[in-house]
Amino acid sequence: MQPLARHIWMDGRMRAWEDARVHVMAHTLHYGIGVFEGIRCYAQKSGPAAIFRLGEHVDRLVDSARCVGMQIPYGRDELIEACRTAVRENGLGDGYLRPIAIHVDGEPGLGAVNPVSVAIAAFAWGAYLGREGMEKGIRATVSSYVRHHLGSAMLRAKVCGQYTTSVLAKRLAKQNGFDEAIFCDATGYVCEGTGENLFIVRRGVLKTPPERSAILPGITRDSVLAIARAGSKELDALRIEVREEPFARDELYLADEVFLSGTAAEITPIREIDHRPIGSGTRGPVTEALQRAFFRAARGEEPAWRGWLAPVS
Ligand code: PMP
Repeated sequence: MQPLARHIWMDGRMRAWEDARVHVMAHTLHYGIGVFEGIRCYAQKSGPAAIFRLGEHVDRLVDSARCVGMQIPYGRDELIEACRTAVRENGLGDGYLRPIAIHVDGEPGLGAVNPVSVAIAAFAWGAYLGREGMEKGIRATVSSYVRHHLGSAMLRAKVCGQYTTSVLAKRLAKQNGFDEAIFCDATGYVCEGTGENLFIVRRGVLKTPPERSAILPGITRDSVLAIARAGSKELDALRIEVREEPFARDELYLADEVFLSGTAAEITPIREIDHRPIGSGTRGPVTEALQRAFFRAARGEEPAWRGWLAPVS
């Protein structure tokens, strides 16, 4: 693979991109017990780049590890500092961080509890679902794959192996000509995208599935809810009511607006689902207002949300 950046933080020090390697007998590679995060950093109007909601992402990484009984050999503060180092040492402005903790080689077999290695890659990465998608909206399909059952996966955790279903759903959606797949749970309630949470707007009500449903309660979802509840100059004119409430596939089709939220996807409108145009078939006013407020927050232009930013130096 072409290096995406110069250095990767790995097990306590910066290494050249090419040297951040693991053995083929790494336990995580075979069985999927590993945990990861996706974090973004943003160039600021003045001063160094800042990492968006870094503390919350590191907390989730540590929680994910606890869920699967993995001992990360670094404390919260060390991981936070390592993320800042990874951004700084690669000279990034806008970028993406991928911390990952894996069980490396040691004993073979399912029952082995091998040592844990931690790496943090940081590199420039543009709009995950395309620049055009951010403005005009993407095309999505409801997946034939069902979102993990609460009883067979750690839904609060970002566990490597749990993402096989996301990859399969995303690949199939793309093969069928769509940009993204939407998961429902086994009872038919809408859950989320393959790596994003989902919101709908209908008649002035902004809705997203509740935290206890079969979703990863995303940090961007939380930011969107906080911004929507606090209001902004554009949002206040739209008089939005916010609800965390279950809804089924028909409400997707009937929505005036649908959008995805996630660290990679940021806030991406959906303009069409299963060949049905959503609302007017383009980005809606609530989505646009939330995007504007979100990016102002990420770029340090909103004093109210400055606490979400961790400058890298
Ligand atoms: N759901 C899933 C399954 C995800 O992988 C992600 C990406 N982390 C999200 C939702 C969005 O979470 P966040 O906003 O914290 O990135």
